Amino acid sequence: MAYRITVIPGDGIGSEITDAAVEVLKKVDEKFSLGLSYDHKDAGGTAYDKFGTPLPEDTIASCKASDGVLFGAVGGDKWDNVDPALRPEKAILGLRKNLGLYANLRPVKVADALVEYSPLKPELVRGVDLVIVRELIGGIYFGEKCESEQHNGAERAWDLENYSVPEVTRIAKLAFETAKLRRGKVTSVDKANVLATSRLWRRTVAEVAKEHTGIELNNLYVDNCAMQLAVNPKQFDVIVTGNLFGDILSDEAAVIGGSIGLMPSASIGEETSLFEPIHGSAPDIAGKGIANPLGTILSAAMLLRYALHEEAAADAVEKAVDKVLADGIRTPDLAKEGLRKVNTQEMAQEVAARI
Ligand code: NAD
Repeated sequence: MAYRITVIPGDGIGSEITDAAVEVLKKVDEKFSLGLSYDHKDAGGTAYDKFGTPLPEDTIASCKASDGVLFGAVGGDKWDNVDPALRPEKAILGLRKNLGLYANLRPVKVADALVEYSPLKPELVRGVDLVIVRELIGGIYFGEKCESEQHNGAERAWDLENYSVPEVTRIAKLAFETAKLRRGKVTSVDKANVLATSRLWRRTVAEVAKEHTGIELNNLYVDNCAMQLAVNPKQFDVIVTGNLFGDILSDEAAVIGGSIGLMPSASIGEETSLFEPIHGSAPDIAGKGIANPLGTILSAAMLLRYALHEEAAADAVEKAVDKVLADGIRTPDLAKEGLRKVNTQEMAQEVAARI
């Protein structure tokens, strides 16, 4: 076996957290003989400073040639005044487009040791284990738009939402396949009582469901889903939804976990997929060595599972993270009296030691 991983640290805490994840991957590699190799590439503000663009061609080429991409974060105040087309965050949209990353997977699993960090009551949070599958390159974010026009004597703007049957079929299939590996339940979220695109969405998901017997399908309106995530998040296994609703619901669901530093994500493409923590470049703590690397380490576990199909290796990383948390080891963002406080690098060593 031999796998090539493109590592894109990006800006701010990006290099600290990706270094930590690579340290853990090296330990997994030793144990499972995966044959991992790493290609470090620039993106974001760091790339803009070096090459005048947030997403160099060389970075795109490396991603396309790799088996998976591990991404840190991009952005920071330093680049607030650069041309909007060259801002660091453009690297993310560019990678989505160039790699055809059509789905974003955001798992929300609350470790027992972290139940008390959630803003929800412990009895609502204990045992939550869901994943949001969000369509990522279609819908209203990519539709035709008008910034300003005159209509009936007033200025107006508009954005067009459209979804095609193949787009919905592709994301629905991924949701059903994901559910098959989990508890076998898909909740499709839309606004079919109001939107035509949602009615096509619902019809198409129902068609895909016919090819996936044994998987339960429910439909929920987005407003109800937002409410259910707060009152009974344990009912969900896989939630599948469009780009706009998914953007909002996945941030709401992330809060249930109680810490932004802990949440991983995967952006799935037909050929290459990209894995990154959900948080940003945290310029306020960059360079201090105190960032929580667990979101990135868990993203590396998703890379092992979804890109390399190395299930046992992925499980080993996730279990090691659970153990570290159960052993009361915390980075400063989650530190409490009576628990052991460690820095970014020490946290990576503690996880690696438990693999
Ligand atoms: P942020 O997620 O970077 O930070 C929000 C708060 O959470 C900060 O106080 C930060 O210190 C803390 N935090 C974040 N990650 C942490 C970690 N791993 N460990 C400990 N604490 C952590 O969001 P922001 O401040 O709104 O944005 C900062 C920059 O990041 C902006 O330029 C923004 O555009 C960019 N951003 C990038 C991405 C991405 O690369 N995918 C995502 C979101 C924001």
